[in-house]
Order: sequence, then C-alpha cells, then structure tokens
Amino acid sequence: MTPTIRILNASSLRQDRLLGVAKKVGDQFRTEPSVSKGSLNLARAFDSSRGQYNSTLLLAELLYLYPFPEQKTIAIVDVDLFIPVLTFVFGEAQLRGQAAVVSTARLGNRFYGLPEDDDLLLLRMEKEIVHELGHTLGLFHCHQFECVMRSSTYVEEIDLKRGELCRGCQETTRRMRDVGSIAPLKISSL
Ligand SMILES: [Zn+2]
Ligand SMILES: [Zn+2]
Repeated sequence: MTPTIRILNASSLRQDRLLGVAKKVGDQFRTEPSVSKGSLNLARAFDSSRGQYNSTLLLAELLYLYPFPEQKTIAIVDVDLFIPVLTFVFGEAQLRGQAAVVSTARLGNRFYGLPEDDDLLLLRMEKEIVHELGHTLGLFHCHQFECVMRSSTYVEEIDLKRGELCRGCQETTRRMRDVGSIAPLKISSL
C-alpha cells in the first residue's frame, strides 16, 4: 500500500516552485504528494538560549495536527532547527512514522555568504524531503555514495548526492509498501 504524502508549506518558498519539487519527490515513492500552505505554532519550539527551534517539538505538533496513520506529513519551515545534542539539523523525521520537518534556513546560499540561487535551494530541498520521507518509510542511513539516504552533515554533502534512492533503498521501500503499515519506532532520525 502506498501511503499518501502531504507537504505542508509553512515557509517562504513559493507554492508553485514547491509543486515542481513535490512531483520529483513523488516519483521516488510512486505517489503524488499534496502540497498545501499551512502554519505551525513555532513559538512553542523556540529555545531562547540557542535562538533556534527544537525540531522534535515540531514533529510532536505535526502528529497532533495530522494524526492520520496512513499519511506522511512533512512540514517545510524557514526557522533554524536543532536537537539538543547537535548544533543544528537540516531536518528530522519520525522513523517509520508519520511526521517529518525540513528547514530552508541552511539550504540557501545566502546563509553561507554566497549569492542566492533559488534553483539550488529547491534542489537541496527536494533531496532533504526525499531523505526525511525515506526515514518515515523505515529507511535508515545508506552508505551508497550517491544515495539520497546517505547522511549529510554539511550542505556540500547534500550537493554531492543525487535526489534518488539507490536500488537497495528502493527495494526496501517496495517491501515496506507490500507489508502495509507497520508500527512506528519510538525514535527519530535526522
Ligand atoms: Zn540507499
Ligand atoms: Zn537521515
């Protein structure tokens, strides 16, 4: 069974540009994601000592807002995300679960003091969305160099990988679809 994917645009990304991203994301999972404008209560996730937003709290809010087991909901936000043990994260997902979040904050060139490049920002976003959705489907990090499920700590590492699942990861998602929904693991992955 193919889960439905909802992309919730709570960021400044243009909706029409995100539709193009959604189509490519959908190709990886053989489904057509819906894209809607939305907002999250970011204030609750704000950590004033760090000046950043706790991504795990945003996942909890998404689960509360969209408690649909057969649906994967991934929110796009502009705020800089963190989990307590790391200085920042590009995104976070509930492993084999329903919710994921990705931030534009460190995906744009401007953050690194370079001229903005919207196409590059969207390409990085596409890879990050596929990566986090892969986690919600039960995929772990992959060691194949170009696989989108390879772990990325720096934006340069996102640029080095392709926006696609390797054959092994494709095979795993196919098996997951065949067995249908499985109980979420009570952990998350970045
Ligand atoms: Zn892979
Ligand atoms: Zn990951």
